[in-house]
Amino acid sequence: MKLSAETRTENIDWLQNNQLDLLVIGGGITGAGIALHASAKKMAVGLIEMQDFAAGTSSRSTKLVHGGLRYLKNFEVELVANVARERAIIHHNAPHIVQPRKMLLPVYDEQDASFTDFSAEIALQLYDQLGEVSEEWRYSLITKEEVREEAPGIKEEGLLKGGLYLDYLNDDARLTISILKTAHQQGAKITNYVKAVGYLYDEENRINGVEVADKETGETFSVYARVVVNATGPWSDETRHMQKNRQESRMLPTKGVHFVVDHSRLPVKRTIYTDTGLQDHRMLFIIPRNGKTYFGTTDTPYEGDLVDPKITQEDVTYLLEAINIRFPGANLTLADIETGWSGLRPLIQPEDAKDPSDISREHEIFISEEGLVTIGGGKLTDYRLMAEDTLKTIESLLDKKFLEVDTATIHLSGGEIKAGYTFNDYCEPAIKIGVAAGLSETDARTLIDWYGTDFESVLEGLDAVKKSRLPVKDALSLQYAMQYEMALNLEDYFLRRVETLLFDYNRMRALLMPALEQMAAHYQWGEEKQQKEKEKLISAMERAHLTDLR
Ligand SMILES: Cc1cc2nc3c(=O)[nH]c(=O)nc-3n(C[C@H](O)[C@H](O)[C@H](O)COP(=O)(O)OP(=O)(O)OC[C@H]3O[C@@H](n4cnc5c(N)ncnc54)[C@H](O)[C@@H]3O)c2cc1C
Repeated sequence: MKLSAETRTENIDWLQNNQLDLLVIGGGITGAGIALHASAKKMAVGLIEMQDFAAGTSSRSTKLVHGGLRYLKNFEVELVANVARERAIIHHNAPHIVQPRKMLLPVYDEQDASFTDFSAEIALQLYDQLGEVSEEWRYSLITKEEVREEAPGIKEEGLLKGGLYLDYLNDDARLTISILKTAHQQGAKITNYVKAVGYLYDEENRINGVEVADKETGETFSVYARVVVNATGPWSDETRHMQKNRQESRMLPTKGVHFVVDHSRLPVKRTIYTDTGLQDHRMLFIIPRNGKTYFGTTDTPYEGDLVDPKITQEDVTYLLEAINIRFPGANLTLADIETGWSGLRPLIQPEDAKDPSDISREHEIFISEEGLVTIGGGKLTDYRLMAEDTLKTIESLLDKKFLEVDTATIHLSGGEIKAGYTFNDYCEPAIKIGVAAGLSETDARTLIDWYGTDFESVLEGLDAVKKSRLPVKDALSLQYAMQYEMALNLEDYFLRRVETLLFDYNRMRALLMPALEQMAAHYQWGEEKQQKEKEKLISAMERAHLTDLR
């Protein structure tokens, strides 16, 4: 089902002319999950996002769906249990995006190790139990020689053994977009580049809508809704502070940074999860992905621009120091870093001041006197549970029960695999269809990995892209992004509909002009607009490439 610029105009028109049951502010994964759940319950629901979908934290994570093995150190057993069970559900509903892998926890005999020879095994066992992991995926132990094979160049001093355990790889932005596409199919009216700028009130001073600004046209208009949900992640306080009554600040965003290097510079064979080696109780993920390896993350309290949290020299120094401790022969420097990204965790301020890494990742819902429902905290992995809790709160606020639904059973767009079949069963014949349509096997496979069962709709764009100078795979996905995923500009496409800007940076110079031409032809952009869009993309590329630190 199309989700295009035309759909956007229709949705905006609809939002202006109808009273909603629910308006969600924020098009990250939290807002997306709520919109999907509400639309499945047949509520009249709208969602507005002031930037592009997932442009906040939901495209800037470690890109895992994980239960948080580390949280077991803080005895957050309930959190881990809830989140760990979600992994299999999300995989089942979006198997093309969320994929199970055995990850490696190397165990060291060293000062302040997060997991010791003794505790590692207990933690892995508990992690499996809490996540109700099936037998084939349960943890196993490997020798230090095997660890060296899996992670060539890893520090050998003090290495005792390794634990292989289940977690899931993810594409955060694509997961968010898939949830939104599914919500759209269920009837939610969603739009990007529309910002909430103030609240509307009834005679009893209760919020009954939102004043919004369309950032594409500059127009402002009112949207009326019986309940308004603030799902703005790191912006939650800003969104709460727009109310008439003074609100205490509740959020404590912390910044996390990741860097991408060529896989040959850090040739790990699977995801590694290890202490930084800096005795700071922090851990690093080192993750192979599409010919690259990325690693992170930092966790530092953050104040400043929420839209573009800058990567600093300190971030570079810290992560390079940590990675070079863990992989002493790698000698990674800034010159090895191809790209990086930085995101803000939407954490809720704890009563007592703790180390940022110790702040719980639990979510919390608070309702203001004026009736604004705010959902803060949480992780990508528990978006569905956050939506469930939010909908319960809304139903009790409205004192009305809507349709009972179990979102665990809703396949996300692209994940509609027939019962009894696996994603791999789908891939083989789909690749053949792609090859018959003129794609190489590799390109067909890439598109299937990105779009899952939506691949067939992607192929429908073949005629439209005949004139494109992009390689056919890229031309097809750009066309699809414009027609089915509301990509309005080059950055939406290269950063959040596909991950080319972060994980295939070296191709960006060659892709830029042909992509601009294809988009300009589709949207009928004039010279001035084209120039502006080109400059915007170049500055996004420079940010990702850390140009100002070189
Ligand atoms: C470094 C890092 C690594 C992480 N790794 C993982 C991981 O591997 N796995 C995992 O499960 N979780 C991970 N997380 C946590 C996870 O990414 C976040 O919890 C999640 O993405 C938050 O989503 P959200 O929708 O609440 O916030 P966001 O994604 O930030 O969405 C909020 C949206 O609200 C919009 N908005 C703000 N104000 C307005 C307004 N006035 N009008 C309209 N829209 C507005 C913003 O533009 C934004 O897009 C990580 C987080 C970080 C920072």
